[in-house]
Amino acid sequence: MRDLNTNSLKNNIKKLTMDKNKEIKNISIKEIQEWEKDFSKRKGLPPTDKSDAHQAMVVGFLKLSEEVGELAEVILRKQYEEIPAEVSDVLIFACKIGKIAEDYFSQTPLSGEIRAKIDYAEKREYDKSSKDLTKPKGDFKNWKNKN
Ligand SMILES: [Mg+2]
Repeated sequence: MRDLNTNSLKNNIKKLTMDKNKEIKNISIKEIQEWEKDFSKRKGLPPTDKSDAHQAMVVGFLKLSEEVGELAEVILRKQYEEIPAEVSDVLIFACKIGKIAEDYFSQTPLSGEIRAKIDYAEKREYDKSSKDLTKPKGDFKNWKNKN
């Protein structure tokens, strides 16, 4: 089953890379991460191994910050047609950072963490007086460890 999923993922990445006219109707976080990892490898971008993984994450974070700034700019300028492109840039760099943490520092895959985040968010209620969501059983980290 794992091999089948891995092969299916590799085929999807190959399609993303090879068929430039293919419309992407659905794409998973894992597919974005695998495409980005494959892209970085083909282009000679870090990380190449654990020795430069932290530095690659730092650079990835700086790029993410740059892209968040670009998104802020198009929102402030009401350039709505630019928003999907800038949100895409943000997602790609965020996925890259998560993938490096997963591959080189044994952290939870983003897909699993997002599952936990969604479950946690569903437990929260909007408090009109504080204009914020409640935090059940402390913060997310405490809640996640107990559930
Ligand atoms: Mg951009």
